[in-house]
Amino acid sequence: MLQTAGMSLFLDLLIPAKCLFCGQLGTRVCEDCEVEIGSEPRLVYRDGLIGFSAMGYDSNAKTLLRSYKELGESELASVMARTMVNLIGCFEQRPELLVPIPSNRSSVRERGFNPAELLARELSLQVPGLRWSNVLGRIRETKDQSKLTPTERKQNQLGSMIAKVGGGRVLLIDDIVTTGASLLAAKETLERADYIVDGFVTFAETEAKGCTLTTQAQLPADGGTSWN
Ligand SMILES: [Zn+2]
Repeated sequence: MLQTAGMSLFLDLLIPAKCLFCGQLGTRVCEDCEVEIGSEPRLVYRDGLIGFSAMGYDSNAKTLLRSYKELGESELASVMARTMVNLIGCFEQRPELLVPIPSNRSSVRERGFNPAELLARELSLQVPGLRWSNVLGRIRETKDQSKLTPTERKQNQLGSMIAKVGGGRVLLIDDIVTTGASLLAAKETLERADYIVDGFVTFAETEAKGCTLTTQAQLPADGGTSWN
């Protein structure tokens, strides 16, 4: 890890960062493009679970998620979290804890990080007093969900997680929601361990046939965190 961080710093000195979207020199996502990608948040329902996503899974979301997850640009977590942070304020109750959806151990080994965990950490830095914790873990590896039907996804996730016993109001955090199978498994696991799960916030949302309802989200007039 240290070697990778050092190498990336070294490369930064040689090659100035370029915006992923417009190519402007300076940062990986320039200010204008950051405003653009967070401009159409969504209200998302999945099997009775409610949540918000900063954007649809369009070509911009794909570009960003590819750099973040496949190319290992973990520093993009802060940009993504800035587009998600106001969505936390859309929930009626103030959450006490952000809980990231756990990755399979094999993918954490491959990437060196859990994409959902970095987002939860960044979000908690951006909302004073809001904690995050890794209270969920995987007790078995799940299959790659991309080729599975909604029903197969549910079976794939069923009983795959374990939670540390605790309590309090929780929001689930993930980089993307599709059928919501992993979010639902997380909710059930947390509720058995005495947490109250109010919903989820993800960076992107992709519509899965037959199980989704998505509308444009209305952000609170004060820009979020109205319970503060
Ligand atoms: Zn740009």
